[in-house]
Amino acid sequence: MRQDPARLSFEVKARDGDARTGVLRTPHGDVETPAFVPLATKGSVRGLSSAEVAGLGYEMVLGNTFHLLLAPGPERLAEHGGLRGFMGWEGVIISDSGGFQVFSLAHGGVADEIKGRRGELAGGGADVRISEDGVEFRDLNDGSARFLGPESSLEIQAAIGSDIALAFDECTPYHADRDYTARSMERTHRWLDRCLAWHERRGPRGQAVFGIVQGGVHEGLRRAAAERVSAAAVDGLAIGGTLGRDKAEMRGVIEMTVAHLDADAPCHLLGIGEPDDLVEGIALGVDLFDCAVPTRLARHGMALAPLPETRFRFDVRRAELSADRRPLVEGCPCAACAAHSRAYIHFLSRAEELTGVRLLVLHNLTYLERLVRGAREAIKGGRFDDYRRAVLNGAPPWRALAPTPSGP
Ligand SMILES: [Zn+2]
Repeated sequence: MRQDPARLSFEVKARDGDARTGVLRTPHGDVETPAFVPLATKGSVRGLSSAEVAGLGYEMVLGNTFHLLLAPGPERLAEHGGLRGFMGWEGVIISDSGGFQVFSLAHGGVADEIKGRRGELAGGGADVRISEDGVEFRDLNDGSARFLGPESSLEIQAAIGSDIALAFDECTPYHADRDYTARSMERTHRWLDRCLAWHERRGPRGQAVFGIVQGGVHEGLRRAAAERVSAAAVDGLAIGGTLGRDKAEMRGVIEMTVAHLDADAPCHLLGIGEPDDLVEGIALGVDLFDCAVPTRLARHGMALAPLPETRFRFDVRRAELSADRRPLVEGCPCAACAAHSRAYIHFLSRAEELTGVRLLVLHNLTYLERLVRGAREAIKGGRFDDYRRAVLNGAPPWRALAPTPSGP
C-alpha cells in the first residue's frame, strides 16, 4: 500500500466485529463506507440524471472502461473533462479496468456460469486472444479489431478521469482449473506492476489505483494474491474473479481473502450487491460494493423488497398486482413508493413505458442506499449483527434497527 492523501485516504471511524465504517477521501469528495456504488456503465445510471443519482444519497458511481472505450471513446471524454464533465457528475468516480468484459467475451459471462453453462477457456469462444501483452478482441458493434492491456486500460481510465482506477486483471471464471487460475493470477500480478509503472509516469496526479486480488476459489491462491497486491504501491484493494458456485462458497472465498489483505486499505468487492450479499460482505469487513442488480432488475420489472424467500425481490408484472393499491414496499422512502401504487407500476412495466423502469430504478437504488446507510448506523451503534440478522430475516432496511435490543 502507498499512502498519498493527494490521491486518496481512508479512515476507519468505527468497528463492530469485522464490520467497519469509515470515510474514503478523494480529490472530488468523500464517500462514507460501507457504500454501494451504482453503475454508470455507459455514462449514465440507467434512466436517471446525474443529479437524481446524487439526490438518492450516492457519493460515487462506477464507469465501465470497456463500454466507454467503444463509445464515446477516450478522446471525446477527454474533450469534456473526463466522464465527470461529460455526465455532469459532481461526486467520486471509480472506473473498472475493462478486464471483466473482455474476459467475459473469452470465458463466457458470469451469468452463464451461474446457470451452469460453460464458456471456453483462453479465447476459444468469441475471437479473443489473450497474451502476455493483453487481450485482442473484436468490437461486436462494427467487427473492428481492438486491444486492451495494462497500459491501454490505464490510459483510457486516465481519459475517463476517474478518482479511482482499477488495475487491469484477468477475471478468471469458476470453471477454470487451479492450474489455469494460478498462471492467470501470476500474469495479473505482472500486469499490476505494469499498470503501476505506467501510472507513475503518465497517470493523472490525483488518481488512485486499486489492485485486484484474484485466485478463484483456491485458498492458497487467494492468500498469495491478497499478500502480493497488498504489498504493491496501490491505494486500495479490490476482490475480483469468481467467488464460487453459490452464496455459501462466496462467503468462504471473501473470508479467506479479506484475512490476508492490508487492513488499512479500503476493500472493494467487485460485481456483488444483492441485499443479503451486502450485509454478509459488510460483516466480513468489505467497504465498497458495485453491482448491476438494482438497475438490471428494474429493466426486467423487478423490485427489491424485504423478501428473503424470493431473493429479496418480486416481479411487479405478476397478474395479481394489477389492482394492488399498496406501494412497492410499505414504508419505503423512495419517490416511486411515495406517490405510486403497485398497480400503476405493474401497468407501466407491462406496457414497457420508460417511466416504469425509471420508477423501479429509483426504488431499487433507494433500497440499497438505505441498506448500506442502515449498516453504517448499526456499526456505529455496535449493533451490526442485530441489523444483519434482521435484514436476512426480512426486515426492511429502514426498520431493521427499530426495536431496541431486549434484555438487560
Ligand atoms: Zn420504494
